[in-house]
Amino acid sequence: MKNRTGTDKSLTSTWARQTQMVRAGSMRSNFDEMGEALFLTSAFAYENAEEAEARFDGRAEGFTYSRQTNPTTSMFEARMALLEGADVGRATGTGMAAMTAALLCYLRAGDHIIGARAAFGSCRWLLDELLPRYGIETTVIDGTSLDAWKAAVRPNTKMFFLETPANPTLDFVDIEEVAKIAHDAGAKLAVDNVFATPALQQPMKLGADIVCYSTTKHIDGQGRCLGGIVLCDKEFDEQHLYPFYRHTGCAMSPFNAWVMLKGLETLGIRVNAMCDNADKLAAAIAPRLDDVRHPSLPGFKQAALAKKQMKRGGTMVIFELPGGRDQAFKFMNALEIVDISNNLGDSRSIATHPWSTTHKALSEDARLEVGVTPGLIRFSVGLEDGDDLVKDVMQALDKAGVK
Ligand SMILES: *Cc1c(COP(=O)(O)O)cnc(C)c1O
Repeated sequence: MKNRTGTDKSLTSTWARQTQMVRAGSMRSNFDEMGEALFLTSAFAYENAEEAEARFDGRAEGFTYSRQTNPTTSMFEARMALLEGADVGRATGTGMAAMTAALLCYLRAGDHIIGARAAFGSCRWLLDELLPRYGIETTVIDGTSLDAWKAAVRPNTKMFFLETPANPTLDFVDIEEVAKIAHDAGAKLAVDNVFATPALQQPMKLGADIVCYSTTKHIDGQGRCLGGIVLCDKEFDEQHLYPFYRHTGCAMSPFNAWVMLKGLETLGIRVNAMCDNADKLAAAIAPRLDDVRHPSLPGFKQAALAKKQMKRGGTMVIFELPGGRDQAFKFMNALEIVDISNNLGDSRSIATHPWSTTHKALSEDARLEVGVTPGLIRFSVGLEDGDDLVKDVMQALDKAGVK
């Protein structure tokens, strides 16, 4: 292997995170390319039949088939694993493929999982609809309450699953404390870290066993490709994740992995700049609305916890328009720069109405229970000029009739 690549973990693990985001995991081919190569190939060839046999046995190193591993995808996985403090990463076609793999690779009929109720709509569907079909018991609780986690434990509890900050309510769950409860119960803790991003929060450092991402969000960060990744230790990978991953075919395309590698190079600076904009926007609109949620605001309910486990407040600002759905729609329709969409973590700012889109799979009661109300706006703060963003939101609030 060539010098100055990112394959030597004894070296890359000593680097600062920003250096890791740019260089860790890079492998150079015989052509000495600077940019990571895109290996758009489904399979790999062998010098002779003996070598094919040896690679299939695992006696010889090397790639066999891109459903399992691919050099471009492996570079992305290695970089993510290092950033996360995980032994292994397995990149998937979408974020939901990552969440599904993380749960289904481990849980079996008769097992029990506890999930925090404030979660991405499709994650809730996995807990509420999919797992029970296969005889996996699920309990959905208020994840902000440590007592609720403790009370939900059963002898067959095998996994805890949570998202913090939660999409879209910005509920924070104490990862460190919940990890202790999970481990006392003999269960694994899986964390969906999408909202926080690897730039701001490292759940494994706080005790999580498995970390999952939709890389569609901040990691791509420019609204191009879908993707996901599951990160874990070697043992969990060997016994549970990798067999499931290779045989069910949830792999990320090498092209998307290449895009994600490029995204990681700028993740740290993008997320920081987005946080600057989010701080500014939250401060500007807080005096105009009763319910504006962002950890940078003085009145933020879970400020101490946010500070304990996240480097900054994050890129999402949540607010409630008192006039419900009608006023929320008026506000969104009046935006001149910001797009109406359902993605997040994009360089372009996005306003989402979770009630009518991302969280519609939940019943009305379930939406209200987690705090997804008809007037709630989920605002993903992008990389535009912060003053332009504030101006756009202020004029849209005016047009929606907010004082
Ligand atoms: C978007 C998202 C997902 C799902 O990711 P996809 O890439 O859309 O499949 C899961 N969890 C959270 C918190 C998300 O925001």
